[in-house]
Amino acid sequence: MRRSPKSSYNPHPETMHIKKGDTVKITVGKDRGKTGKVTSVDAKLGKLHVEGLNLYKKHVRPRKQGEKGEIVSVARPLDVSNVAIICPNCNKQTRVGQRKDGEKKVRYCAKCKGAI
Ligand SMILES: [Zn+2]
Repeated sequence: MRRSPKSSYNPHPETMHIKKGDTVKITVGKDRGKTGKVTSVDAKLGKLHVEGLNLYKKHVRPRKQGEKGEIVSVARPLDVSNVAIICPNCNKQTRVGQRKDGEKKVRYCAKCKGAI
């Protein structure tokens, strides 16, 4: 495993407002403007994976003689700051707020105020 540089760690993992299963829109890179479902989140690193997006081709060299080199697609994680959440209630690109509902913390859409 290659270790990430310390600077890429998210110093405030509790501020991670995107969860697995959310629909997000990518705002940077070659998949900019595309939307997809979040398949995994790493709050410590502030990174996430979006289903079927941010795929890059990786060339794999043949290991043995007679074996062919391949090009495989590898999904790279995206930084949370490079995606925007899509509200399931109003289908708009939005920001997330938090409010308390009794003891529970509830995430809500900054535009329609609906719970996410
Ligand atoms: Zn909304």
